[in-house]
Amino acid sequence: MDVITVPGPDCYHRDPGESWADYSTRRFALMEQTLQQHSNTVCAVIIEPLVQCAGNMRMYDPVYLKLLRSACDKYKVHLIADEIAVGFGRTGTLFACEQAAISPDFMCLSKGLTGGYLPLSAVLTTDQVYQAFYADYQNMTAFLHSHSYTGNALACRAGLATLEIFQQHNIIEKNQSLAEMMTQVAARFHEHPHVAEVRQTGMILAIEMVKNKHTREPYPWQERRGLKVYQYALSKGILLRPLGNVIYFMPPYIVTEDELLLIAEVAWQGIQQAVKD
Ligand SMILES: *Cc1c(COP(=O)(O)O)cnc(C)c1O
Repeated sequence: MDVITVPGPDCYHRDPGESWADYSTRRFALMEQTLQQHSNTVCAVIIEPLVQCAGNMRMYDPVYLKLLRSACDKYKVHLIADEIAVGFGRTGTLFACEQAAISPDFMCLSKGLTGGYLPLSAVLTTDQVYQAFYADYQNMTAFLHSHSYTGNALACRAGLATLEIFQQHNIIEKNQSLAEMMTQVAARFHEHPHVAEVRQTGMILAIEMVKNKHTREPYPWQERRGLKVYQYALSKGILLRPLGNVIYFMPPYIVTEDELLLIAEVAWQGIQQAVKD
């Protein structure tokens, strides 16, 4: 597909003293410019709300989503929120978009939809979009879309069970104190001589390892320092999948305080090993 990419609002690159909100607002100018230039040919903007997960856990302020929603309305472009990773409580709200008080035109869901127990994904859309396809058979506007296992009953039941757990066990509220514990157990990493940033959005906490803390010069990717942390952690029974030189905690919501302490300790030791020589 022919796509236009726009430089992101990743707050890792903000100026010293600049807030996430100010930086995200400043970076939105590039999105606005692109939309203005291409609004006649662009049908939708796809974004991962609040955290670009596989893209090294880059984080930004909800204000960016607010600005994007109004620009998409202004230029009559659909907004697609990919909440496959950030949805279902991961960022502190059930959906990340809620923190900007916006609704996308399409929302992609998977992963947490079933708590990860069975494979199920869904694309939600607005009544307006639904109505555009809903017509008499003879109009031939039906949206032809299906897969052999679409709406698999067992997977859907796992999805319902997950929603029940969210409702009955106050998961979103409990996650707030878990997120605070994550902040606390990771506090010591700020002072680590090879950590440039510790950033967090809800129950995602990322630690950016660098060669030089002051210039933020990264380790060459070929050295695979993150892999060393992963290998050390695995030998201690902890799965810390690295994204390049970024180590992150994205624990299941059943994690305990003791487990968080252990994860942080193992990550610390792993980083100590990885930054040697
Ligand atoms: C995992 C992931 C996907 C892929 O989802 P599938 O259901 O495996 O196609 C897409 N986007 C994001 C943000 C993801 O984290």
